[in-house]
Amino acid sequence: MSTYALVTGASRGIGRAVAERLAKDGYTVIINYHSNTAAAEETKAAIEAAGGKAELLPFDVADGKAIEAALSQWDASHEGEHISVLVNNAGIRRDGLMVFMNEADWHDVMRTTTEGLYYITHHVLSGMLRARKGRIVNIASISGVSGLPGQTNYSAAKAALIGATKALSKEVAARKVTVNAVAPGFIATDMTADLDEGELKKTIPAGRFGKPEEVAALVSFLCSEEAAYITGQVIAIAGGMG
Ligand code: NAP
Repeated sequence: MSTYALVTGASRGIGRAVAERLAKDGYTVIINYHSNTAAAEETKAAIEAAGGKAELLPFDVADGKAIEAALSQWDASHEGEHISVLVNNAGIRRDGLMVFMNEADWHDVMRTTTEGLYYITHHVLSGMLRARKGRIVNIASISGVSGLPGQTNYSAAKAALIGATKALSKEVAARKVTVNAVAPGFIATDMTADLDEGELKKTIPAGRFGKPEEVAALVSFLCSEEAAYITGQVIAIAGGMG
């Protein structure tokens, strides 16, 4: 029997670092991704090279039916097992001032964040409640805490994640399932590759972008036994921003 951790958007960036870290912690990691199979296979190979275990489970987190189909298939092929850790990490940015923002940019960002939040969490939660043990970590953003201009869609989506984290944590605490949110500032990944790091780091008290591995270390702690009494929290990892 394995202990499974599902990490959405684990082919690249923060999700990949979280997947690699949780595999080192002893979980069999279920690597979700959308379309970049080559990158997902690299994550899997890196985990296996370090002596860990991983499986690929592609689906679009913005598509409830695709989520249900993929997770039901996973259940069918893993009889008697359940997912103990869920990291809702997959996300996208479509920045623009609200006055110029088109419907697609609003809905794509909202759906990618909130559709998966409902369908995936809803699907895996019953197994955690039955086991009286579980960890859910939602990757939000300081944009969802403070709001950032040009990110009304993204700030709204991440604030939804934070509200859900707080409400759900209170529902499931008695069953020893913790639910927390992590709110990164600027982290060096593909998502921030188009930003002017030289200019932006002047606004960060720590004077640099964060590393995906630093976010992964925080997620690892929140998933550990030692973090059993931490729930419903939003923990910033932003070099002093926010
Ligand atoms: P990234 O480097 O752009 O990677 C995004 C990951 O999400 C990829 O694995 C991608 O899969 C996956 N993904 C995107 N849309 C998906 C969908 N519809 N279904 C399934 N998977 C999907 O992003 P990142 O910087 O690591 O960000 C990870 C999370 O941290 C996001 O929620 C982001 O909002 C949050 N965050 C990031 C920063 C930052 O500065 N980087 C700051 C605050 C919060 P494919 O490879 O298949 O495309």
